[in-house]
Amino acid sequence: MKRRDFLTSGAGLGVAAMAGCTIPLPSVVPPPTTGEALVQPIGAPMRPIKSSMDRVTRTIVGLRPFRKPGPRLEAVKVGSKDVVHNYGHGGGGVSLSWGVAELAVALTKDSSSDRVAVLGSGAIGLSTAILLQRAGAQVTIYAKDFPPYTTSNVAGAMWHPVTLYENDQVSAETLSMLDLASRIAFNRFIRFANDPKYGVYWIRQYSLSAMPMSTILPYVGGDALYPGLVRNQSGGPFAFQYYDAYYTLMIDPDIYLRALVNDFLAAGGRMKEMTFESEGDLEKLPESSIVNCMGLGAGKVFGDETILPARGQLSFLLPQSDIDYGYAGSTDDYGLLYSFPRKTGILLGGSVDKGDWNLEPRADEIRRMVDGHAYLASKLKA
Ligand SMILES: Cc1cc2nc3c(=O)[nH]c(=O)nc-3n(C[C@H](O)[C@H](O)[C@H](O)COP(=O)(O)OP(=O)(O)OC[C@H]3O[C@@H](n4cnc5c(N)ncnc54)[C@H](O)[C@@H]3O)c2cc1C
Repeated sequence: MKRRDFLTSGAGLGVAAMAGCTIPLPSVVPPPTTGEALVQPIGAPMRPIKSSMDRVTRTIVGLRPFRKPGPRLEAVKVGSKDVVHNYGHGGGGVSLSWGVAELAVALTKDSSSDRVAVLGSGAIGLSTAILLQRAGAQVTIYAKDFPPYTTSNVAGAMWHPVTLYENDQVSAETLSMLDLASRIAFNRFIRFANDPKYGVYWIRQYSLSAMPMSTILPYVGGDALYPGLVRNQSGGPFAFQYYDAYYTLMIDPDIYLRALVNDFLAAGGRMKEMTFESEGDLEKLPESSIVNCMGLGAGKVFGDETILPARGQLSFLLPQSDIDYGYAGSTDDYGLLYSFPRKTGILLGGSVDKGDWNLEPRADEIRRMVDGHAYLASKLKA
């Protein structure tokens, strides 16, 4: 399997491998030593999540901005304006945000001495705006919606850039940009770890498979970004045949984006509500230097037909303090399933529907996820 396969396959939240590593098998025995523990060893016992309809607190839907050739990071001239495009980050926009933001700032004309407009106020726009401020610019964010009403607020969000492009349409240049952006981003995110103000926490993460996992190529950005990584272990949790495991960061986007908005405003940033219909609307802005971070919305405004929605639906269960792990895997009966442990609730996910614009929650999807995750939890009890 090529790295691109790993990046774009839902169940491939972990692949590649280092043969020969053996760690103790997770099993359900006693609970972790304390629910307040920051993170347990990869091989420590796992408590089952309690997945049932009466524990569902809410269901939300978001449209990942999936661009077939991969995220667009490019400086262009649009009318009289200097525009840097920074959009189309698929299922990995929160993860990549600080990295692509830093690269976008480097492309921005007069970033340190002038007024700069940032279009969009999701994870990409906010991180870009904050880094422009740090470079010395006076920044105004223009957007149709602000947190908590952005797609970024719907993100999982586990730190691991996935679902980023179609394998046959991505260039080597974009792959290399994504590797660099991943390294920059992870090294910035790690500074937020376990700070309640930002809602970023360490978790242990399991990628599950019925088939052996690829052992050849590194994870995106390099294996060093996945501490504790073990690959292609046999006899995985939840009765899966194979698994990869590592530590990563869990980002609670409602907390995190609120903190970024506050940081941006505290540094003198301004926010203005504005909807752009076409690229001609950019001429209405007083700034001559613009960074476009409008995610899926950039498609219509700039006539980019390579971007499409990849719909995702998430349900949340009541929180459990004894769950410190996430997982992703596919089963024959329930399809793709993933779960992340937030402090505010247990997230249930498992849908990536390309081309589907429907923002209404689907009852059959809620049932599939609740039943599917309950099934997996029951396997821990065995
Ligand atoms: C279910 C689900 C799970 C996900 N899980 C993860 C995960 O675990 N990890 C991860 O890294 N990522 C995850 N993602 C992906 C992540 O959410 C996106 O990649 C990311 O939010 C993109 O950020 P953005 O700032 O580009 O877009 P957005 O958050 O959509 O922000 C776009 C901004 O542009 C504005 N805008 C758009 N159009 C216009 C217009 N015409 N005029 C004016 N303003 C406009 C919007 O109002 C908004 O302010 C997930 C997404 C979903 C839906």
